[in-house]
Amino acid sequence: MAHIQDQIRKLQSSLSEHVQLVAVSKTKPVSMIMQAYHAGQRVFGENKVQELQAKYPEMPKDIEWHMIGHLQTNKVKYIAPWIHMIHAVDRMKLLREINKEAEKAERTIDCLLQFHVAEEDTKFGLDIQEAIEILDSDEFQRFENVRICGVMGMATFTENQDQVRREFQHLKTIFDQLKTRYFHNTESFKEISMGMSGDYKIAVEEGSTMVRIGSTIFGARNIH
Ligand SMILES: *Cc1c(COP(=O)(O)O)cnc(C)c1O
Repeated sequence: MAHIQDQIRKLQSSLSEHVQLVAVSKTKPVSMIMQAYHAGQRVFGENKVQELQAKYPEMPKDIEWHMIGHLQTNKVKYIAPWIHMIHAVDRMKLLREINKEAEKAERTIDCLLQFHVAEEDTKFGLDIQEAIEILDSDEFQRFENVRICGVMGMATFTENQDQVRREFQHLKTIFDQLKTRYFHNTESFKEISMGMSGDYKIAVEEGSTMVRIGSTIFGARNIH
């Protein structure tokens, strides 16, 4: 257990102040998450609504919970009243639902647009054209309860570091294009969520502002 606190402290001190650490606690029990909390960690990421729902009431209320996984439209309502950020917005239908549920909860929800930059076609995400369609739409202009804060992506799971680097560079390019075209005057559009345990160092070199790190902190997960 001391391992968790050590890892949190090590990561927190190695990352620059411009890079936020999202501690990915999926599959891990509250007792382990509390170890990270006691080391000062306040930002946690989960990829399943059910797990978020189970953990949220059990944990201190100054935690910022980030939903980092694929989100089903019909589950948005369960997390809308308190979720801090939704990383994987990959379709208009989802954004519409988040806006609706955020309005009901009388709040604004921070969102990232997820882009498909990896080679594997199993991963979710928009391409630039699809993002442009959303951002150009009249409907999007009317959304008052979502705030697009940036982009998110995952690199291919490969030993090939050049490929990983190219994919992160691609995501940074997308961020820059959207910033110029749509969010030039929007201060809150500033996040590039990229980098996991195996590739976060490359991600940070390529401009990441949020790394999502699980197994380095909490140990390997059982596959389920
Ligand atoms: C699980 C997960 C992570 C963390 O992965 P590790 O390799 O354990 O650091 C990051 N991002 C997403 C979207 C995940 O699902």
